[in-house]
Amino acid sequence: MDLTYPPEAEAFRTEIRDWLQENLPEGWGEPGFELAGEARARFNKQWTEKLFAGGWICASWPKEYGGKGLSTMQAVVLNEEFARAGAPLRADFFGDTLVGPTILQWGSEEQKKTFLSKILRGQITWCQGFSEPDAGSDLASLKTRAELDGDEWVINGQKVWTTQAQYADYIFLLARTDPNAPKHKGISYLLVPMKQPGVEVRPIKQVDGSAEFNEVFFNNARCPKDNVVGGLNNGWAVAMTTLGFERGTSATTSHRRFQKELDEIIKEARKNGASSDPLVRQRLAHAWSKVKIMEINGFRSLTAVLNKSKDPGVAALGATNKMFWSEYHQDVMKLAMDIRGMGGQVLTGGSDEEFIPGYGRRPANQSYPADAMQSAFFFSRSETIWGGAAEIQRNIVGERVLGLPKEPKVGGE
Ligand SMILES: Cc1cc2nc3c(=O)[nH]c(=O)nc-3n(C[C@H](O)[C@H](O)[C@H](O)COP(=O)(O)OP(=O)(O)OC[C@H]3O[C@@H](n4cnc5c(N)ncnc54)[C@H](O)[C@@H]3O)c2cc1C
Repeated sequence: MDLTYPPEAEAFRTEIRDWLQENLPEGWGEPGFELAGEARARFNKQWTEKLFAGGWICASWPKEYGGKGLSTMQAVVLNEEFARAGAPLRADFFGDTLVGPTILQWGSEEQKKTFLSKILRGQITWCQGFSEPDAGSDLASLKTRAELDGDEWVINGQKVWTTQAQYADYIFLLARTDPNAPKHKGISYLLVPMKQPGVEVRPIKQVDGSAEFNEVFFNNARCPKDNVVGGLNNGWAVAMTTLGFERGTSATTSHRRFQKELDEIIKEARKNGASSDPLVRQRLAHAWSKVKIMEINGFRSLTAVLNKSKDPGVAALGATNKMFWSEYHQDVMKLAMDIRGMGGQVLTGGSDEEFIPGYGRRPANQSYPADAMQSAFFFSRSETIWGGAAEIQRNIVGERVLGLPKEPKVGGE
């Protein structure tokens, strides 16, 4: 297997390395380097400005919509170099990663012009309105409905687990627009303003005192008729595109954050002597081999994309990816807490916001000051649920990749 990158990719790598070296604060990534309080806030602001100036935000989007039009290979190299330097690319999860690319793929020209540059410039923030009280894994059972009234959709219903709804300007929302159609049909994908009288957001307070997600109630809320993405009653296909982005496409870079995190865990084990316990060593070796598997599978996926391969084995990799990394991450974070022992229960987090790899910034929680590793441990519990539960991913692999019989449904559907 030849793992070297083509010369033009390496030239691009040098360009990014030089840029990072010029723009990151001196000492970044070296032992003892720290940015706290105001310095951290100042860095965050200036860094975003620098990323804009460098054109690195949503850089793979076409130039006409404000991106740099990077090729797949260039986008991979960009992500690799930022990951290597430990430099944050802006992680506006809902805008940059989910709805932006979905609008690029399915949106009308008008929608692209209206929304993409605002997403890129950070002028509008988003939340995702898919799940409902009786429609999570069985998403197609959703009941929120939208009815046309002149030039506007009128929306009624309820969403739940809506992350960041309390801050969002817009929600990308699934609503039933044809109640008589079979359940996967008759759904549309709407872009709905959040700041209007018909939208009520009720934060769900969690056991640690924070309230990341919300219930959202729609009571005659409105959006323009033209805010349907991908065509009327075609929302299921559009939603599957968004979920594809949510389940992870950064094939060659995701193992890097896990490798970095594992290095930290090994450091901790060496520090407190746990690394001399044969069982701990065995679990660490097991974790290391799983990160390696992610790395190799990442290369296989990238090669397949570059060669436009239709190899069903590679399609299976995409489908297994989410359940593999999320289950790995739960295991390794449990190992991290076992290594810390009783000390792992002492909350030693500071008052600064944190960057949770893969999920974005998380505000500091004064009432429950977990540190980065403790936060990652807690958050890993949710990773086999959001974006499609691990059991559902297994059903997808069984039915769509291995061609096994479909699971029986109530009512014989
Ligand atoms: C941290 C976090 C953030 C989230 N943010 C958002 C958001 O911003 N927007 C949004 O729309 N949603 C969000 N969600 C909701 C998420 O998409 C749902 O929780 C998820 O789809 C599961 O649905 P559910 O909670 O209703 O569980 P259920 O669907 O009720 O599942 C319960 C259990 O039953 C299992 N199960 C269900 N059906 C089957 C089956 N057919 N075969 C085998 N097992 C099955 C599941 O795997 C699970 O273990 C978030 C969830 C979390 C944890």
